[in-house]
Amino acid sequence: MQMKVTRRTLLQMGGITFAVVGFVPRMAFAARNALRSMRTGVQPGEKTRLVIETANRPSYSLSYPENQLVVDIANMSADSSVTAKLASGTLISDVKQVQVDDHLHIVANLRKPIAHLDKSQIMLLEPNGDNDYRLVLDFTATSAEKIASAVKTGEKTEQKTPQKKHVIIIDPGHGGKDPGCIGKGGTREKDIVLSVGRKLKARLDEAGFKTYLTRANDTYITLAGRAEFAEARKGDLFISLHANANPSRSVKGFSIYTLSEKASDEEAKKLAESENAADKIGVDGFTEFERDIRAALSSLQQHAVAEMSEEYANGCARAFRAAKVEAQAGPSVRHAPFAVLRSTVPGALLELGHLSNGSEEKLLKTPDHQNKLVAAIVRSIKNYNFDV
Ligand SMILES: [Zn+2]
Repeated sequence: MQMKVTRRTLLQMGGITFAVVGFVPRMAFAARNALRSMRTGVQPGEKTRLVIETANRPSYSLSYPENQLVVDIANMSADSSVTAKLASGTLISDVKQVQVDDHLHIVANLRKPIAHLDKSQIMLLEPNGDNDYRLVLDFTATSAEKIASAVKTGEKTEQKTPQKKHVIIIDPGHGGKDPGCIGKGGTREKDIVLSVGRKLKARLDEAGFKTYLTRANDTYITLAGRAEFAEARKGDLFISLHANANPSRSVKGFSIYTLSEKASDEEAKKLAESENAADKIGVDGFTEFERDIRAALSSLQQHAVAEMSEEYANGCARAFRAAKVEAQAGPSVRHAPFAVLRSTVPGALLELGHLSNGSEEKLLKTPDHQNKLVAAIVRSIKNYNFDV
């Protein structure tokens, strides 16, 4: 069977394993959705793949009745002209459509039990070429030993394994020989972001996250080194902390950036240029690590990481608004080619405020304001949808 979707799996390259992640939508869409096609296939590692193609971005949830996997899609009607193309050798014996109110349940009957899918097993692909949106689910049978031991201890096989702690990589920018930008009063960016980074780590640890600081003291780390750090620790989210400077001293407020090869505006481009300058990487330059990452990831996979980053950044902007932190005038999320964000870990770069603005420079030094920023970031991370 022809599989047009790009394989999402663990990619081995240069000894580094890149876990490629899927994007999970949270918003409900009012527009009526339509089922286009359904198909199954076998992927390397005896994985069964189920692909559900829909006209619009699906708002969905998964459930696991006995020997079934059910994909519940909102705003959709059953369509008898769409029948699943079933490949041989998969865990799926057949696929049915069941209308439940305004939701279409796509019910896959399974030959063997499966564990609950996690985010890494689910990918939503954007339309491309002849394809509409495709929800791609990959899974294997739960191992015989696991079932046997569960039976032995009297557990139900569908019982959920304990929740994995989500890994947050906190990246205080600059450090060591690189002070970052410096305020009129002599405040150095590297000190502010380290202070905020340490506070953020403490608060996130309390909240039950697993956290790592790319630097816990005043040391210099390359931008690629930071991205590699996040990759090696299998981060679920990467938060790079910075403070800004603007030639105009009246400019103030925080801003949020995600990675894009094309800057959203001239100012964002200049900012990426200055943040990349520590490693003498221009906005068009790539480190070797970035080149490896780009070679390992298909454009669709890069797109999935970008979408998750965008989802986080939008939530982060909401959290900062809710905390009444002053925002820089303009769009709530901007885009620029930041070298530090080039990895498979979704994330954002936060410019916490302007050291070039006198009053904001003073504010950024106060523990109260730093705590306010930290609380807003913690909230944005708690609100981020890590799981399905
Ligand atoms: Zn910076």
